[in-house]
Amino acid sequence: MEERTEIATLGEFGLIDHLTKNNEIQNASSVLGIGDDGAVIDHFGKQTVISTDLLIEGVHFDLMYTPLKHLGYKAVVVNLSDIYAMNAVPTQITMSIGISNRFSVEALSELYEGVYFACEKYGVDLIGGDTTTSPKGLIISVTAIGEVAPDQFVKRSTAQKGDLICVSGDLGGAFLGLTLMEREKKIYLENPAIQPDLENETYVVGRLLKPEARKDIIEFFAANQIIPTSMMDVSDGISSEVLHLCKQSNLGCVIYEEKLPIHEDSRHAAYKFGLDPTVCALNGGEDYELIFTLKQEDHDKIVLNEEISVIGYTTDIESGLKLHTKGGNLFNITAQGWNAFNQ
Ligand code: ADP
Ligand code: MG
Repeated sequence: MEERTEIATLGEFGLIDHLTKNNEIQNASSVLGIGDDGAVIDHFGKQTVISTDLLIEGVHFDLMYTPLKHLGYKAVVVNLSDIYAMNAVPTQITMSIGISNRFSVEALSELYEGVYFACEKYGVDLIGGDTTTSPKGLIISVTAIGEVAPDQFVKRSTAQKGDLICVSGDLGGAFLGLTLMEREKKIYLENPAIQPDLENETYVVGRLLKPEARKDIIEFFAANQIIPTSMMDVSDGISSEVLHLCKQSNLGCVIYEEKLPIHEDSRHAAYKFGLDPTVCALNGGEDYELIFTLKQEDHDKIVLNEEISVIGYTTDIESGLKLHTKGGNLFNITAQGWNAFNQ
């Protein structure tokens, strides 16, 4: 049997110490980390970007198919994604947890293994947090802090008419991973003897359980003197994000169905579930890609980057938000995707 140490044997301070004793600081900007009433950061003349997220068991994650290590990793990565979406570089995080005695010290250590793995990979420091009890479910709150050269941050509201709309990576994979896991969970609950059939689905499962933030895209922008005119990360599905960008920038848009980047494995998974890959790409959440707009003259700077797809362009607000389908029809894009009955 696996070892199980009750949290009570360590106590709150013992637990914090246990979870943070090997914490290493990587950034000069982390002046003071864990151990005092507050942490101290010096961003040496840069501006500070902050973003925070709250994750609740049963709402944002299901521990039945989410290993704690992956959860810790994902909790950090989704926050870093928000910092990158501001065109900033994340440097620190704080991590707060609400836990019950349902969790052992070993289980929380696993969670933190994932947290440290993400910190190392993305070069951020864990500089604090809070630990408290929750009656039952696990609660995780991560705050990410980043830096950006003065006034180089990129907002959602500053796209201009005629800009190119671009997206990184590919879309819909995480939603298909979720669909698959929910299906397997249902089968398991009905008959625990049946083993999950995840073979050939590693891509979509990975997209759900181990998302990455697009550090590479922000570094590419910096290396190529690109500043997008607007940007946000894709956490709720591209149609909802396009809506936000256009609404906040007072614009309309045209998105081309055939330009939506969809991974071969996602396409296959969609067909297997009887779903339309386009609908999955438009409405599926949790891809943590970046959507951004660029001046047309910057097109040459991105054309060779295979991780960036141009999916459309912005128009004036009166033209509305349109999806140009493969068949040549124009549909309105709505928050839940596109409404085929509302041309
Ligand atoms: P306070 O009582 O002043 O809030 P705590 O005892 O909660 O301080 O925390 C002590 C130190 O440990 C602080 O630096 C805090 O940021 C850090 N800390 C507390 N909980 C966590 C956690 N779950 N993960 C990382 N750091 C934590
Ligand atoms: Mg505290």
